[in-house]
Amino acid sequence: MAREDHLVISSGKAVQPFHYAVGLYGSKFFQELKENRRLVGSKCPDCGKVYVPPRKVCGGCFKEMKEFVEVGPKGTISTFTIVRYTFIDPETGVQRPVPYGYGFVRFDGADTVFQHFVELDEKHPIKIGARVETVFREKMEGTIRDILYFRIIEE
Ligand SMILES: [Zn+2]
Repeated sequence: MAREDHLVISSGKAVQPFHYAVGLYGSKFFQELKENRRLVGSKCPDCGKVYVPPRKVCGGCFKEMKEFVEVGPKGTISTFTIVRYTFIDPETGVQRPVPYGYGFVRFDGADTVFQHFVELDEKHPIKIGARVETVFREKMEGTIRDILYFRIIEE
C-alpha cells in the first residue's frame, strides 16, 4: 500500500436501533436547546463551579446542584484537533468528509469544557484561546446535532 492510501473499512449499512435516556439534567439541557436556543449548565451552591452539560452532583464538593444557569453561546477554545483521516461516522453510517476541526470549548460562564465540531476557516485559523460562537441548526430537534459547530470569531 502506498503511503498516501487510506484504509477504509465499512460496516455496511449498520443500524443502531436503540434509544437511551439522557436523564433529568440531560433532558433539561436538550429541552432548553430545542425550545429556547439556550445552553445551560448546573451551578454548584458551594464552590460556584458551572458544569456544561449540566450534572447533578459537583465533582469537587459532592453537593447536589439544583440551579441551572445560561452559558455561552460564545466561548473559548481550550484545545482542538484537525481530523484528516477518513472514517465511517457511526452517527450517519457514511464516510465523514475531512479535514474537519474538533475542539473543547469553555462557554462563557462555564467552568468545564464542551466537545464539538469547529469550523475550519483560513481567515480565522483554529488555535487555543480563539473565541468562538455557537452555530445552531435552523430547526431545533432537541439533540446534540442542534449545535452544528463552533465558528471562530474576532472580538
Ligand atoms: Zn462544588
